[in-house]
Amino acid sequence: AFDVLVVGAGPAGAAAAIYAARKGIRTGMVAERFGGQVLDTMAIENFISVAHTEGPKLGAALEQHTREYDVDIMKGQKASAIVPPAYKGGLYEVKLADGGSLKSKSLVLSPGARWRTMNVPGEEEYRNKGVAYCPHCDGPLFKGKRVAVIGGGNSGVEAAIDLAGVVSHVTLIEFDSQLRADAVLQAKLRSLPNASVIVSAKTTEVHGDGEKVTGLSYEDRKNDEIHKVPMDGVFVQIGLVPNTEWLKGAVALTQRGEIEIDVRGETSLPGVFAAGDATTVPYKQIIIAAGEGAKAALSSFDYLIRLQPA
Ligand code: FAD
Repeated sequence: AFDVLVVGAGPAGAAAAIYAARKGIRTGMVAERFGGQVLDTMAIENFISVAHTEGPKLGAALEQHTREYDVDIMKGQKASAIVPPAYKGGLYEVKLADGGSLKSKSLVLSPGARWRTMNVPGEEEYRNKGVAYCPHCDGPLFKGKRVAVIGGGNSGVEAAIDLAGVVSHVTLIEFDSQLRADAVLQAKLRSLPNASVIVSAKTTEVHGDGEKVTGLSYEDRKNDEIHKVPMDGVFVQIGLVPNTEWLKGAVALTQRGEIEIDVRGETSLPGVFAAGDATTVPYKQIIIAAGEGAKAALSSFDYLIRLQPA
């Protein structure tokens, strides 16, 4: 059995595995895909002390750094359920999708999240070529350009306010007849001279020239008319979905499926910690996920040294 078993090998999981292994405890890792969302990223310019890198490069560095340590990495494996111990301080069981199972005294859950996509033509083709999901990450790439933000919830309106400070013009496009964001955010957005809002609009296509985004089309849901507008970027803000479906009923999740954690990263189960985009931690970023992973591993070590000797 492991002392700590880490599930998920994005920045949070890699940090957790390294911090755990550096304590000299038996560390395992279930890694569906090493690197996580980082692999889907082009330029990364906000991982402090690394002025510029690319997703696949950082993903490979995360794996290389983890392999410097004695971590039992089970690559290509997916966890499908956790079974709590029969008695306090006993072993947790992690079931794998391939039918296998692993046992550990403590767990760090870091399965990350995925952005909800619009599923319209052009979105996938121009991902990272004008189609973006993270204003903190990619906003500066659109300095002085025209961008659209899709989605009028809090994250969409926050993104539009944020981007308005960088881009020449931001157009917020909402499917419903009204925005769902908090009134104070809506008022702030409407006060900005370089922001406009279009409601009752269903985005139907992202256009490009083969290299990058050139515009988008939306259907006016009031009269079914299609409008084509020129744009240099499209920020999709229709939700970040935590990869926690397999944890339902086992640990406490919020309505949105985020794993509830306390300040030490502990979940509702003793000895089970969580880190990164899958949790309630605010702001989903690489540096935050890595810090949270380190914290979860240290908390797990604290838990282990307090367990009654077997
Ligand atoms: P993830 O990176 O999501 O990794 C989780 C891993 O766990 C995944 O590999 C997943 O496959 C695996 N997993 C899931 N379920 C299971 C399971 N049941 N069993 C085993 N493994 C499982 N952040 C920045 O700071 N700067 C940027 O420039 C930036 N740009 C981004 C661009 C894009 C296109 C995207 C999508 C995100 C970007 N982010 C950026 C956000 C950043 O990538 C995330 O905040 C960060 O990767 C979260 O790390 P994580 O370890 O919590 O989860």
